[in-house]
Amino acid sequence: MKNCAIVGINWGDEGKGRMVDLLTENYDVVVRYQGGGNAGHTVINEYGKFALHLLPSGIFRKGVVNILGNGVALDPENLWEEIQQLAQKGVFINPDNLKISDRASLLLPWHRDMDELEEQRLADKKYGSTKQGIAPFYSDKYQKKTILAGELFYPDELYAHLSDLLEWKNLILTKVYNAKPYTMDMLECWLNVYCSKIKPFICDTGAFLKDAQQSKKNILFEAQLGALRDIDYGIHPYTTSSNTLAAYAPIGAGLPSAQITDVVGVVKAYSTCVGEGPFVCEMFGKDAEELREAGAEYGAKTGRPRRVGPIDLVATRYGTELQSATEIALTKLDVLSYMEKIPVCTHYQLADGTAADCFPFPYALREAKPVISYLEGWHCDISDARKWEELPKAAQDYVLFIEQAIGCPITYISVGPERDSIIIRK
Ligand code: GDP
Repeated sequence: MKNCAIVGINWGDEGKGRMVDLLTENYDVVVRYQGGGNAGHTVINEYGKFALHLLPSGIFRKGVVNILGNGVALDPENLWEEIQQLAQKGVFINPDNLKISDRASLLLPWHRDMDELEEQRLADKKYGSTKQGIAPFYSDKYQKKTILAGELFYPDELYAHLSDLLEWKNLILTKVYNAKPYTMDMLECWLNVYCSKIKPFICDTGAFLKDAQQSKKNILFEAQLGALRDIDYGIHPYTTSSNTLAAYAPIGAGLPSAQITDVVGVVKAYSTCVGEGPFVCEMFGKDAEELREAGAEYGAKTGRPRRVGPIDLVATRYGTELQSATEIALTKLDVLSYMEKIPVCTHYQLADGTAADCFPFPYALREAKPVISYLEGWHCDISDARKWEELPKAAQDYVLFIEQAIGCPITYISVGPERDSIIIRK
């Protein structure tokens, strides 16, 4: 029996989706435990290329049960669209291989509006939201001002609850933001068009997981985004609105008694960051353009160009600790093949001139400067390498340098986006 979490070590987009897709072969159940449809896990396999936003990445494997846990922001509209997109490409999704927790809270139609309206109000102080309604959703969840998926089975109570929420939310929409109010007709339409479609997937996933645990099934816990976006430990306020850490997996998944035995931390061979906020090792100009193009670094959900930089060992060490990673998957090593010399951010220089190798309080990041060292490049295509010995020495040295700096074994090295473009080093 294995309980494994696959998590991001940095700012997200590290390649978690491809790792979950690869590792699900050995698991019976895959659970998404936090976040919503605001990010995209890119998976390339025999069905084609997909950007999964809410569906767990085990959805492609026959025999794997996929669960959306109580910790996710369950957006019925996005989820239903995603299910249909996959079905069109031949991926079979039914209540046997997809189960939604009856304790998951629903992202309501006004959450997206609230996100947009608040970013507009903030103007040049905006957080860089993907405008999928995630921050308003989580703040309403913790105010107990949204509804649980299981309430769809109690229509009378549901209507009464929705109309209370409607009255409250319209006060905010009209009086704070001067926006249009919602009506009960609009909510009914949303219930009929989207919620009714996802209803057959809703069940007591806690009971299912407990059974799975008792029958010693292997469970994979899938996170969204990375450690530096964690609401409590990340680059506040440029974080997401949930806990992205492996420690949250048992709670958000719906199996609070689970002991996570393995944590695969996913790290990209260089850094990327989407949206606003401090990004100490950011590269600019031609060098940044070149790296962005080489790595095709554009947001899976929004198409936004990602900010890029060398690997940041200060942030990566911090993320590895936060995630309690037991092993690391280093992705996209092939992308660096074009570089003569490979920059690595080893320290930060703080505003007072001191060198820091520990990740500081978010405010100190604003003035921090990256201290860069250069390692030798390998100047050849490595995308066909499938064994450690097939990597050129300079590429091996790069991997070993990172491994030493972060103090955690790098057991997977990916050299291409396809499922089998991987070196397993165990
Ligand atoms: P996630 O949200 O952490 O799953 O990451 P994303 O899906 O946003 O970003 C990873 C991107 O890199 C996707 O487009 C993947 O297909 C691609 N990718 C993953 N691993 C590799 C790799 O080893 N090499 C290359 N060239 N691309 C990769």
